[in-house]
Amino acid sequence: MFVQEKQESNVPALGLYVHVPFCSTTCDFCAFYQERPSKKGIEEFFLGLELEFERFPGGRDFSTVFIGGGTPGLLSSNQLQSLCRLVRQAGLREECEWTVEVAPSEITREKLDVLAEGGVNRISLGAQTFDPKMMEALGRRHTVEKTLSAYALIRETRAFRVNLDLIFGAPGQTMQMWEADLLRAVELQPDHLSTYCLTFEEDTAMFVRLSEGKVDLDVDREAEFYELAWSMLPDNGYPQYEVSNFSRPGMPCLHNVNTWRMNEWIGYGPYASSQHLGIRRKNSANLQKWASGMARESNPAYEEYVEVGSRDLAGDAILFGLRMNDGVNLDELALRFDIPLECLRSVRTFFGKLMTEGLMKESDGFFMLTQSGRMRCDAIATETPELEVQKL
Ligand code: SF4
Repeated sequence: MFVQEKQESNVPALGLYVHVPFCSTTCDFCAFYQERPSKKGIEEFFLGLELEFERFPGGRDFSTVFIGGGTPGLLSSNQLQSLCRLVRQAGLREECEWTVEVAPSEITREKLDVLAEGGVNRISLGAQTFDPKMMEALGRRHTVEKTLSAYALIRETRAFRVNLDLIFGAPGQTMQMWEADLLRAVELQPDHLSTYCLTFEEDTAMFVRLSEGKVDLDVDREAEFYELAWSMLPDNGYPQYEVSNFSRPGMPCLHNVNTWRMNEWIGYGPYASSQHLGIRRKNSANLQKWASGMARESNPAYEEYVEVGSRDLAGDAILFGLRMNDGVNLDELALRFDIPLECLRSVRTFFGKLMTEGLMKESDGFFMLTQSGRMRCDAIATETPELEVQKL
């Protein structure tokens, strides 16, 4: 239960996310909002960020920070220094976990030194694969050698815990290639590994190739890829703590765990999402719109803005909790979100059914999916009943 214990504190956890929306090229599978960096765009981004930090102070110190994108690492050393200053001014807990995502081609010793001095203590490196053919199939612009030298540079700095992102399920990838990628990643001994199944999102170069019949999609193979990672990584010292995430004991990504547990976080930057003070909102996925919205007195133009109550949060904590190996404890959830236990009656009945089918097990009050349940976790999430409204 290491993931749950690390989160306990008298002050509720609060995450800080910054979305840096710039990428110099677009990877073939990418459907995220990002744009080419320009002097004007970067200036607009920093002006907007300053305004957004003033407008939305956390109200208490942040327990985790995650700077993602886009590719934050393409900012210059001076710009990274300014970004770190802005984040620190927002107020951080002493033991704050602070991650920055970097792509292998952008990282330099100077930038790493700036990040370490700024307070960053965790780097997430987008390795994706160690196979040159796969790298080409994914349309990534860096080489395997570049990934390895970037990793060595990060390790030399000695200031960071390191995550490696790996991707699987690309056209042409064999099980042997995936096994070799996993072995190579383990050999490097990162502290954390995230493994993502390639998805074919509309408006991506990969999707166009698929619709033109230039690549094949074999959905049945997905399960085999998952199973290989789920068996190999724990055997090599990386226990699984979530469907796609593995870490050395005691080193999960606390920022993500905070989000999955439906605690609060504030997102800054275009496209960033927040869940704070009973509101879930998503900033505009357009740098200019977001920046000019921050400069206005009235409410910025959000892509989404909804009120969320205790039942919504508890319901989502169940869905995300089921993706985690720790599972969910319904009594603890009722207490944490201050909802009557009766609201969870139909969820409990559903869990009973899953246990009969061998898809779930229970231990010390925690309900967790078995390996075959985890394989079906998306379908189980769809079937999970909503929390009942208590009848007076
Ligand atoms: S680096 Fe990340 S955000 Fe940028 S194009 Fe590639 S996948 Fe998308």
